[in-house]
Amino acid sequence: MPDKLDLSALWKLSYGLYIVASRSGERMNGQIANAIVQVTAEPPKIIVALNKNNLTHEFVAESGMLSISIIDTTADMQFIGTFGFKSGRDIDKMSMCAWKLLDSGCPAILDHSNAIIEGAVFDSVDVGTHTVFLADIISTEVLSDTEPMTYAYYHTVLKGKASKNAPTYRGANKPDEKKGGETMKYVCDICGYVYDPAIGDPDNGIDPGTPFDKLPDDWVCPVCGAGKDVFSPTD
Ligand code: FE
Repeated sequence: MPDKLDLSALWKLSYGLYIVASRSGERMNGQIANAIVQVTAEPPKIIVALNKNNLTHEFVAESGMLSISIIDTTADMQFIGTFGFKSGRDIDKMSMCAWKLLDSGCPAILDHSNAIIEGAVFDSVDVGTHTVFLADIISTEVLSDTEPMTYAYYHTVLKGKASKNAPTYRGANKPDEKKGGETMKYVCDICGYVYDPAIGDPDNGIDPGTPFDKLPDDWVCPVCGAGKDVFSPTD
């Protein structure tokens, strides 16, 4: 990388937040994506960048079909965590949301979405970690008038982070071992979830009043599934 490359310039690019879904046979999956752009109007075409490690990438490459759900500002970190920080190889994401089948056979996620777009891939470009899929838009549907979520909103209001597989990932900070304390809150460097000892994590058997350093070693972030080692003190 050239010395004079100031990556913070790239943080000023604007993005939306979307769920790209596809299928392979009876298997379906969806994932969060931010690198989606409409590139022509007549006829309408879009480009979609997906990380090659992702299950949805595999399904889109196989089927040549994809759907895009435009996430709105009603979405919370739990929802974004399911689609952005967990793999369809580990969980059945489609059993955790409302969705419908499009004519192409692709599922489209309906929760926290204000519109859906169906695309048929006509070409793709290998760009290293990601593949850029070029697709004809074959159907669209407006679901509501809610505000689309921007990537900036996700960062500033929901305090979300980029997934390690996102093109916008900037790397995580290491925890500061010198800080500690019974009431210290810890933030997940991957997804932005905050562990508050006063609240604990009752859904996963952690009682209120449990300090972060007393959490079991196999405890994981309830949003993204990352281990304790990616958490940092919040102050
Ligand atoms: Fe997390």
